[in-house]
Amino acid sequence: MISFEFATASRIIFGAGKLNSFAKHWNGRAKRLLLVRGKSSDAIPRVREILSARDIRFTEFEVHGEPTVELVRAGAEIARSCDEVIGLGGGSALDAGKAIAILATNPGDVVDYLEVIGRGETLTHAPLPYIAIPTTAGTGTEVTRNAVIESPADGVKVSLRSPLMLPGLALVDPELTYSLPPAITASTGLDALTQLIEPFVSVKANPMTDALCREGMRFAARALRRAYENGHDKEARERMSLASLFGGLALANAALGAVHGFAGPLGGMLDAPHGAICACLLPLVMEANLNALKEREPGHPALARYAEIAQILTAHPDATAFDGVTWVSELVRDLNIPALSTYGMGREHFPEAVEKTLKASSFRGNPIPLKEAELVEILEEAL
Ligand SMILES: [Zn+2]
Repeated sequence: MISFEFATASRIIFGAGKLNSFAKHWNGRAKRLLLVRGKSSDAIPRVREILSARDIRFTEFEVHGEPTVELVRAGAEIARSCDEVIGLGGGSALDAGKAIAILATNPGDVVDYLEVIGRGETLTHAPLPYIAIPTTAGTGTEVTRNAVIESPADGVKVSLRSPLMLPGLALVDPELTYSLPPAITASTGLDALTQLIEPFVSVKANPMTDALCREGMRFAARALRRAYENGHDKEARERMSLASLFGGLALANAALGAVHGFAGPLGGMLDAPHGAICACLLPLVMEANLNALKEREPGHPALARYAEIAQILTAHPDATAFDGVTWVSELVRDLNIPALSTYGMGREHFPEAVEKTLKASSFRGNPIPLKEAELVEILEEAL
């Protein structure tokens, strides 16, 4: 019997040039707005102009790298005197904005609400109205209900999570990604691909997320190399923005797997972009899952799903599950994703990484519980 729930942003606007047309029809009534933004994007001056033209007083809050506990605490303090928040940037800026918008209306400190390292209390008050405008194509965080926050003191990244955190508006304009450099196109694009593959084989997959994953994988498979080679390939950029959005819709409603299980702890231990960690691990986890499934659960439905993934990615109707692994490995190599040792990972990190991965919430979505030795082998190959 099929049963599932599906929740997303209240409204999604998608299309090249939509930032401009949205600005024309926007009836925002904020008296004071907080603009949580990344370091650099062509979109920043455009949004400033839109706000100024409407006489909206706004404060800018810049996010360098992935948001920390201290950063969202400081942002929430400012947001308490605002009545609306816009997040503009990559996953880090959007996650920061999402966390700030809800912490501004809830009592206490961010740590009270964090899972794993905090008290994991429930957020009960609706956030300030939040508009999420991505300038990369990868995280899909404009339609998810969590924000990844780093605690440097604990050396880990954990989530602030609540159904209330789904943005009021996700404004996805592929034009904003045209100027992304190839390295960011590669790492964010491979994060998008991971976020389409993991929910498709997750223990929580449902027919609605399946449909999004199938279509999203098709988009990413045809467009990522093109967007990497020519950032101004409008069709490829549009397809990657769709793949990213679909990945966000899928992961928020069907969970992830071991790649993201690793990405939280490793992201806290290494100074590496989230997408690069996922890209490195994706083919290795696919292979480890396939081997574990064949050995321990040969009748598991995820085996057929991995074959379907391979057929979608390679566009060959008789591709095998392992052909999919080869296809992803070649893509990761061609897009010049460095090995994790480049970011300082060594064998000394393995015990802590494995211990934390086994406890990570994403790990529970993996189609089969991988054993400790299998996790160590994946890290060994990612060096
Ligand atoms: Zn991800």
